Amino acid sequence: MERIGADIRKLVSYGLRTGLVPEEDEIFTVNRLLELFGLEEPEEEGAANGTEGAEGKAAAGAGSIISQECKYAESPEGQDSKCTAESEGQDSKCTAEPEDQGSAVDADAVLAAELEGILSRMCDYAYGHGLIAENGVVYRDLFDTKIMSMLMPRPSEVIRKFRELCETESPRVATDYYYKLSRDSDYIRRYRIARDMKWIAPTKYGDLDITINLSKPEKDPKAIAAAKNAKQSGYPKCLLCRENEGYAGRINHPARQNHRIIPVTINGSQWGFQYSPYVYYNEHCIVFNFQHVPMKIDHAAFCKLFDFVKQFPHYFVGSNADLPIVGGSILSHDHFQGGHYEFAMAKAPVERSFTIDGFEDITAGVVKWPMSVIRLNGPDSDRIIALADRILEKWREYTDEDAFVYAYADNEPHNTITPIARKRGDNFELDLVLRNNITTEEHPLGVYHPHAKLHHIKKENIGLIEVMGLAVLPARLKEEMAQLKAAILSGANLREDELLAKHADWVEEFAPKYEKIDAFNIDGIIEKEIGLVFMEVLEDAGVYKRTLEGQAAFDRFIESI
Ligand SMILES: [Zn+2]
Repeated sequence: MERIGADIRKLVSYGLRTGLVPEEDEIFTVNRLLELFGLEEPEEEGAANGTEGAEGKAAAGAGSIISQECKYAESPEGQDSKCTAESEGQDSKCTAEPEDQGSAVDADAVLAAELEGILSRMCDYAYGHGLIAENGVVYRDLFDTKIMSMLMPRPSEVIRKFRELCETESPRVATDYYYKLSRDSDYIRRYRIARDMKWIAPTKYGDLDITINLSKPEKDPKAIAAAKNAKQSGYPKCLLCRENEGYAGRINHPARQNHRIIPVTINGSQWGFQYSPYVYYNEHCIVFNFQHVPMKIDHAAFCKLFDFVKQFPHYFVGSNADLPIVGGSILSHDHFQGGHYEFAMAKAPVERSFTIDGFEDITAGVVKWPMSVIRLNGPDSDRIIALADRILEKWREYTDEDAFVYAYADNEPHNTITPIARKRGDNFELDLVLRNNITTEEHPLGVYHPHAKLHHIKKENIGLIEVMGLAVLPARLKEEMAQLKAAILSGANLREDELLAKHADWVEEFAPKYEKIDAFNIDGIIEKEIGLVFMEVLEDAGVYKRTLEGQAAFDRFIESI
């Protein structure tokens, strides 16, 4: 039976330590895992050797099995149970004391690595024994999610616990519990998130967050081919539909057996609350309509945002705009994104205030930000919503030819808003980011979209997360920047390099700013310059430019409110 018996024990131990598996469910969980692997009984400890030779296919996974044996030798079972008490104690302490976060992060990384090892060996075993058809990442992801489902509480149990914590403790304790569950269950694949490159880039607008997203794995060719031939299914309708909860997945849709959703009532309608499996920032959550209906920015959307913030005051929440180019990647399913994080835009100050007649109780102002942001602040969310309604109504119909703002072209609407709501002390706050998705021959991807000059770094839509100051840059940049650094240091001609030629203008532009570029400072320079490109990306996406003329045009709109 090889090491599978040991790994089943390890996984159940992981479940017990993380709290996924209550003590009472230990034997039950072992038995479910035995069934999944087609085993009739757990092997006796220490009786693992001697049978592997019989299984020719298992040789493929032998390398990882051997290396894991060494790891086991270092941490015998007895030590594990000691860790349990320690790490649990540490967790609860960390919640109260953020300064201990360093050790909590380490402990979490150790747990994540341990789980990755167990699941990886289990997938090797499953492939060796014909339980998965192919050994690529898509098939392995489907199977390891099925493994994790054996450790999961039912949705009703998670919901009950979440609500109980909300009532007896606080919404923050409840989200802490649910976030931990989403990570421990491997719904959020921590070991993949850890691969993302992240840094802070100082700019005149504040510290922007830059990430190169490496956590979405490249699909293997066999899975791509199989997905092409798979029949198109309408179930679940999309990745955000609630029917994903517990869904086994298929070659062209991820498995979600380890996914649990918390229902929330906002503005009288039923929505779901969950975390993003890709967590771009701390506690990155998604709040989504239980109905598969399109995105819409309107009065109800503002009400829903504030309803959510009132229930979870430690979270901000925002919505993508409801038009292509300036919206997010999913326009077909109404949803918001929020989380426990303060973005550069939230920290950016108001640079000029104004008062709207009839709304003297609301503080309004223009935010010092590369995009065009109106910030409303006041103690009464209904009053903020009433003013936001008026601004949205005006903006939808607003045309200013001198500023190249057109509400419509060929009867297609172009103006919309990206709204973000948060609690600020005792007050409520709403940022309204003015958006316009018009295209021209010169800018076929959008006039208020990163221009061609910046496409070597960022070409994709500027959605809610980027608007707030976090760049989600494509994975290709990791390899390109590594090669670019080597080429700069060796003095190679970038224009002759097929991969690097597109970065040549950029390098020629920034290089003269530095006295010298060498092996010691090049990493910092590239990071800083990518940050400055992202700042320009946001300036391009801004409807009103950061010039006297641009800001005067912004004021013309404000006058019209
Ligand atoms: Zn949907």
